[in-house]
Amino acid sequence: MNIALIAHDATKDRMIQLARQHATLLREHRLVATGTTGSRLRNEVGLEVECLRSGPLGGDLQIGARLADGGIDMVIFLRDPMTAQPHEPDITALLRACDVHDVACATNLSSATRLLRSI
Ligand code: PGA
Repeated sequence: MNIALIAHDATKDRMIQLARQHATLLREHRLVATGTTGSRLRNEVGLEVECLRSGPLGGDLQIGARLADGGIDMVIFLRDPMTAQPHEPDITALLRACDVHDVACATNLSSATRLLRSI
């Protein structure tokens, strides 16, 4: 499966923790991530991750474009609901693309854990 991983700054530590817990599973899949999230997953968890642009520089849109082409099967997007993001329209567009193309998307730790366990 092609899995996209994205975490806002306030949730990046949570993403690292999640990835550590599911590292064995994640290694069996093709991972793609926004820039900063991806480099942390590489450096701190040792996962092989394709890093796209950072979210504020268009990374969410890059993932959305792949998803629209059928290249993403699952999105784990740990959002920070407390802080306004400068690229909120891009985030909304990606989540909309998930709904349009019926791609499983988790936006918090509980749903992400359940989604990964379902693989
Ligand atoms: P980042 O982008 O992984 O490059 O921080 C995530 C986001 O803000 O959407």
